[in-house]
Amino acid sequence: MELNRRDFLKLSGVGVGGLFLYQILGGDRALAFPGRIPLKKRIGERTTICSYCGVGCSAIMAVEDGRIINIEGDPDSPINEGSLCSKGASLYQVANNEYRLTKPKYRQPGTAEWAEMDWGSIIAAIANRIKETRDSTFMEKDKDGNKVNRTEAIASLENVYANSEEAYLMSKLLRALGIVYIGNEARICVSSAIAADNETVGRGPMSNHWIDLGNSDCIMIIGGNMAESFPVAFKWVTRAKRKGATIIHVDPRFTRTSAKADLYVSVRPGTDIAFVGGIIRFVIEDMEANPGRYNITYVKEYTNASFLVDPQFAGPADRLDGLFSGWDGSKYDKKTWAYQPDENEPDSIKKDPTLTDPHCVFQLLKKHFARYTDDKVVEITGTDKDAFQEICRTYAATGQIGKAGAIVFSSGACQHSTGTQIVRAFGILQLLLGNMGIAGGGLDGITGASNGLGCTLQGLVNNWLPGADSVRPPTSSEQTFSDYGATKERLASLLKAWYRDTDHSTSFDYLPKRDGDYSMLPMFEAIQAGSIKGLICWGMNPLVSGPNSGMMRQALEKLDWMVVIDLWETETAAFWKPEAGANPADIGTEVFLLPAAHPLEKEGSICNSSRWNQWRYQGADIPGEAKSDLWIANKLALKLKELYGGQTEKSAGAISHLTWDYGDPPDVHLVTKEMNGYDLVTSKLLSNPGSLKDDGTTSCGNWLWCGMYTEDGNMAARRDTSDASGIGLFPGWGWAWPLNRRIMYNRASVDLDGNPWDSSHPVILWNGSDWEGDVPDGGWPPVSESGKYPFIMKPEGRGYLFGPGSVDGPLPEHYEPWESLVANPISPQQNNPIIKNWETVAKGTKADYPIVATTHRLVEHLHTGSITRRLPWLVEMMPEMFVELSRELAEERGIVNGDTVIVDSARGSIRVKAVVTARLKPYRSNGTNIHCISLPWSWGYMGLAKGDIGNVLTVRVADPNTGIPEYRAFLCNIRKD
Ligand code: SF4
Repeated sequence: MELNRRDFLKLSGVGVGGLFLYQILGGDRALAFPGRIPLKKRIGERTTICSYCGVGCSAIMAVEDGRIINIEGDPDSPINEGSLCSKGASLYQVANNEYRLTKPKYRQPGTAEWAEMDWGSIIAAIANRIKETRDSTFMEKDKDGNKVNRTEAIASLENVYANSEEAYLMSKLLRALGIVYIGNEARICVSSAIAADNETVGRGPMSNHWIDLGNSDCIMIIGGNMAESFPVAFKWVTRAKRKGATIIHVDPRFTRTSAKADLYVSVRPGTDIAFVGGIIRFVIEDMEANPGRYNITYVKEYTNASFLVDPQFAGPADRLDGLFSGWDGSKYDKKTWAYQPDENEPDSIKKDPTLTDPHCVFQLLKKHFARYTDDKVVEITGTDKDAFQEICRTYAATGQIGKAGAIVFSSGACQHSTGTQIVRAFGILQLLLGNMGIAGGGLDGITGASNGLGCTLQGLVNNWLPGADSVRPPTSSEQTFSDYGATKERLASLLKAWYRDTDHSTSFDYLPKRDGDYSMLPMFEAIQAGSIKGLICWGMNPLVSGPNSGMMRQALEKLDWMVVIDLWETETAAFWKPEAGANPADIGTEVFLLPAAHPLEKEGSICNSSRWNQWRYQGADIPGEAKSDLWIANKLALKLKELYGGQTEKSAGAISHLTWDYGDPPDVHLVTKEMNGYDLVTSKLLSNPGSLKDDGTTSCGNWLWCGMYTEDGNMAARRDTSDASGIGLFPGWGWAWPLNRRIMYNRASVDLDGNPWDSSHPVILWNGSDWEGDVPDGGWPPVSESGKYPFIMKPEGRGYLFGPGSVDGPLPEHYEPWESLVANPISPQQNNPIIKNWETVAKGTKADYPIVATTHRLVEHLHTGSITRRLPWLVEMMPEMFVELSRELAEERGIVNGDTVIVDSARGSIRVKAVVTARLKPYRSNGTNIHCISLPWSWGYMGLAKGDIGNVLTVRVADPNTGIPEYRAFLCNIRKD
C-alpha cells in the first residue's frame, strides 16, 4: 500500500504532537501503529494556524530540539487542504529570525539609546506607571455626580494576532483598571462592516464561510483584492468558477482577482454606493416586471419590505437636497424614520403584504434607488455602461429560487466616510435576492488579520465587552445593574467570571462607564492634547497603520510613558529615534519595549474570518527572554493586584477583587474554560449560552464562546474531517461561534414550513419535529408553526432593507469622499453630512492635488509590514515601497517605470518608486478626466526593508457610525524626483 502525505498524517494522529510509526499488516492492507519511525533526528510535528490573514490556514510545524525546521500546509484542514500562500510558507522565518526582540528594553526620557532591563524590574516599573497615572486621574464620578469609575489618561491599542485567550485577559485587565480608550486594528480596518451587518441582518462579519463559497452560482467581489489579500480562500472562488459560477470583480484597479474574474469593472474610489445602488434599482424594476425570477415570499416574509414607515418620512428622492427628514443642520432627529404602529395589535407594526403602499419600505426603497439610473451610475463611478448592465443582469439572476450569490468584500469597501452605508447597500441587495442564510449566498466581509475577529470579540474595542454588542460597556446613565439596557444574563455571567466572589450588582460598579467616543482617532486627539499620559501598544503599530501618520508621530511626543509589546522594534516603538526624523534629546517620553512570543511559540485558540475557532499548539521555543502575551498580561495583573492589595478605596476594589487565578506561568486552558463559563452551582462547564442566568449562578467570560470548551473537551481542537452535509459544513473541525453554527440566518434558507428553498443545497430542514443539518439559527419550529422569523438578532426577526439605526440615514446615499475632484452628481450634498473630522490640516484642493489616490494590500506583506518586512524571503519578493500609476498619467508627468517620484497630499509627502501599469486607467466622471494612483502602506523606517509610510498621505476623517478612517479615497499629486 502506498501512503501519501495526507494519509500518513491522518494515521499518525497529527495535532497531539509526536510522530508515530505506521506499519502495514498483512496482505489485506490492515494498518497498525506499533511505535515510532526510527528517524535519525528527533522530530516532533504539531499543528498551528497561520498568524497572518483571516483565512485560518492550518499548518504543520516540524520541530527539532525546540526549533522549527520546516512548516508546510496541513492537508487535513478542510479550509486550506494543504496549501499555504507566500506569507504562510514564510512562517518558518518568523521563528528563525535574527531581528526578533529577545530582551526587555527601556528608553529613558531624552536619551538616544535603549537600555536592557530584566523582566522583574520592567513589569514593576510599568505597573507603577499605570498605578500612578490611574490613581492621579481616576474619575469616580462625572460632573453630574454619576458613578463612572474610569481613567481617561491611559489608552491601549491592542493586538489582532494574539490568541483569543490572550486578548480576553488583556480586555479583562484593561476594564478592571477603568481604561476606556481602547482600540485595535479592526476598528480602522472593517468596523463599518460590523455596524452595517448589525443593522441589516443582526450580526457580522462573514455570514457564511470560506468553503461555502464553492456552493455559489455567482460571487461578486467588491472593494477587495481577494486573490492577493486572502489567496488560499480564493481557491474556493476558483472552485466555484470551475463548477460554472460567474465571478464578478469591481475595484478601482485591475488585479489578480480581476484576472480570474469573468466580469471586471473599474470604479472611481468611493463610489460603491452608486454602483450597488444601480444594481438594486435594476433588481427592483425587474422584480416588478418579472416576479417569477425572484423569491418574492422571501422578500415579503423575511425582510421589512412590507413594513409601513411614518408618512412624514422623506428621503433625498423627495427633498432633492441629498438628506433625509429630521436633519437639524448637524445631525438627524430620527422621529420620522419610525414604523407605523398597528393600532389593532399592540406592539405590532402596520404592514402591506402587497408591497404597494407608498409608505411601505419596498416602495421607499424603489423611490430612493430609482435615481441611480444606468447613466447616473456611469456618471458617478466612471464605469463602463455595457459592463455595468451585464453585471446587473448576471447578479440579479441569483434571485431565482435555487440560485445563490455571495458578496465578498474587505477593507476596500469599508474604509470610507460612507463605509457603513456601502456595506448596507450590499446587504440590501442580498436580502432582495434572497441570498442571506442559504448555501453559497451571504454577506462575507473579510477580516484582514488572523485573529481580528477573535480579539475584537474579546472586547478589545472601546464599545464592546467580550461578547460584542449585546454585552456593551455600561454608560453613566446605567448606574446600577438593573439599569443596564443590554442583555443582563450575559453581563451578569461575565461579571461572575471577572469577580467571582463579589455580587454582580456590586461588581457592576467596577466597570468603567463610557460616555464618549474612545476609538483610535479621538484617542490620538487626546494624546495630542496631552490629556492621555500613558499608552500601551500591544502588538499594534499605529504609526504605520494610522491616517496622517506624521501627525500621529508628533502626538506620541506628548506622552509621559508608552509600553510597546511586540516581536520587533516597530516604528511606533522607535518614534523618538533619528530614523523617525526626531531628535531624541527633545523627547521626554519614557518607553518600555517588551519582547513577545509569536503564535508559533504558544498555545491557544484563534478565530478566522468565517467565525471558526481553531486551536494551535506551541511549536518552537520562545527566543531569548521573550514571553507570550498571556504571560505578560498575567504578570502585569498579578503585580497590580499586589500594588493595590490592602487598599480600601473604591478604585482599588476593581483590581483587588478581580478574580485572577490562572497560575504562574498561566494555564491557557483555564482561561478558555473561563471564557466558556461554568454553572457555579455544579462547577460544571456550560455547553450553551442559553443556560446563562442573571442571578449570579453562572459565570461566562464571553457568551459567544460558550460551548467551545465543555465537559466533553476543547471543541476548537477538533480535527474531524467528515462532512455529512454535502455542502462543506465540516461541523467537527474546530468550533464556530455561535453554537457551532456554520451559516448564520440559516432559517432563511427554508420556506415558512421549513423546507429548503434549494433542495440540492439544503443547509437545514424541518423533519416535522426537529431541524436537521446545520445548527439552526434559533431552535424554534418553522415560521408557520412558531411565528419566529429567521433574523433573530433583529427585534422583528426580519432583515432590514430600511435601517433606521444608522446615524447617517436609513438608506444608503452616495456622497463624495471628503477630498474629491467632482461635485456630487446626484445631489447638492457633497460629503456625508455627519462625517467625523479630526483633521487639523486644510482639505486638499483640486488645484494643488488633482489626482485621486487609493491604497491597497499585497500578497507578500501584511498590514504595517512589521511582521513581514523582517523575513528575507518576503523582502526579496517585495523589497520596496512603490506607487502604481497609469501609463496615461506617467506620460503626462514624464515618469517612466522605476523612476523615483514624490507623492504629496495636504498632509505630507513621500518618496517612492513608480510602477507604471495598465492596471489603472483614467476615469471620466461628471465631465471630468480623473487620474487615480494606488499605494500600498506596508513600509516604514524600521525593519529589513525600509520605505516611506503610505499613511503619511491619508486623512483623519471617518465614517460617522464607526470612526473608520477614509483611507481609500483622497487627493494627491505626483512628480518625478
Ligand atoms: Fe492562509 Fe492567509 Fe496564512 Fe496565506 S496568510 S497561508 S491565506 S492564513
